Amino acid sequence: MASPTTTSLDARAQAILDLEQQFLIQTYRRFPVVLRRGKGCWLYDTAGKKYLDLISGIGVNALGHAHPRILRVLREQAGILIHSSNLYYHEHQGPLARKLSEISGLQRCFFTNSGTEAVEGALKIARAFGRQQAPEKYEIVALENSFHGRTLGALSITGQAKYRTDFEPLLPGVRFVERNDVSALEQAVSTRTAAIVLEWIQGEGGIYPLDPAFARRARELADQYQALLIFDEIQCGLGRTGRYFAYQLADPPVLPDITVVAKPLACGLPLGAIIANERAAAALTAGMHGSTFGGGALACRVALEFLAILEELLPAIHQTGGLFRVQLTEMARHFSFVREVRGYGLMIGIELDLPCRSIVEDALTEGLLINCTHDTVIRLLPPYIISDTEVDRAVKILTKLLKKVKYPPESA
Ligand SMILES: *Cc1c(COP(=O)(O)O)cnc(C)c1O
Repeated sequence: MASPTTTSLDARAQAILDLEQQFLIQTYRRFPVVLRRGKGCWLYDTAGKKYLDLISGIGVNALGHAHPRILRVLREQAGILIHSSNLYYHEHQGPLARKLSEISGLQRCFFTNSGTEAVEGALKIARAFGRQQAPEKYEIVALENSFHGRTLGALSITGQAKYRTDFEPLLPGVRFVERNDVSALEQAVSTRTAAIVLEWIQGEGGIYPLDPAFARRARELADQYQALLIFDEIQCGLGRTGRYFAYQLADPPVLPDITVVAKPLACGLPLGAIIANERAAAALTAGMHGSTFGGGALACRVALEFLAILEELLPAIHQTGGLFRVQLTEMARHFSFVREVRGYGLMIGIELDLPCRSIVEDALTEGLLINCTHDTVIRLLPPYIISDTEVDRAVKILTKLLKKVKYPPESA
């Protein structure tokens, strides 16, 4: 969707757009910007224009771009060993699994190449776990408005028609309930339930947090019916909310049987993980699941460094996120069409009374990368290293953008 109104592209950038137009399956509605390099919270396009990055490659570049400690281990490990398959051991899977177990309160890991693959694996664990009890115990309870990925399994538990309809029929036995509707949840869960799958904060769905009481009831029901409780922390986990996992925001925390993570885990290298307790992990035995690329030496080494850095950053995420939301809430008071500013840590949603795609396009012109999700929610997932000065800068630009919005629309 190369709209020449947003930016004027130089010839080299235009040539890149033309090639993609001709040779790529047209699944993405990209913005007409060709990004070339990044440093810290800033990205630079092929013409040298700079952008403050508040989306971090959709929550992936949590340490910003070209973080010196990540670069150092990346270069070092690339010269030692990149990949060796899961036929043999290498030095870094064990230590990474131990670290993920320590921070999650769960016990065992399986490594994947993406979030969706981690969801798929978790669904396979749920199926095996249920089947080991009874053949009809294969149902999954999931939430309306959820997002768990785009493979057929993950899509089957994604509660949004726009992603599903073209590919139906999907997996049988999935029941959807509204977020925070305890009685609907109680009606959906039964002896046939193999797993309940929840995002603690719906990310793609518009930054909607779960009510801790709802999650607690899900925990009780899972125990009562011998089902697994699975938390999808692919977007909200690994520090995004100021805690290692969003389920640790509740007091006392609600522990799942399985959690899945991915996005920021290896700072841009593809890596995801299923983290399970002993009970869930025992459902898989040798030969039941596997991956050629999953948990390669390079990705695991980088993930270990990411988690070491994250430990030092958690208080800052909480603090900077708080400051950011205070400033955004103050900004929102001046615009009648801003419905709500919500989120935890550096996972922030600004809900508007109007579609936000055109604001996201204007932001590009102003040198700001933001994202619009669920049509009317501006989603911010800035790098964890964002400074107070950069937050100020972001709020200034956002204020300028909102001032330009015509509301109510003249045609209305
Ligand atoms: C991004 C996301 C996924 C899918 O992860 P991929 O790495 O894109 O496969 C699944 N669940 C949630 C909550 C996500 O945000």
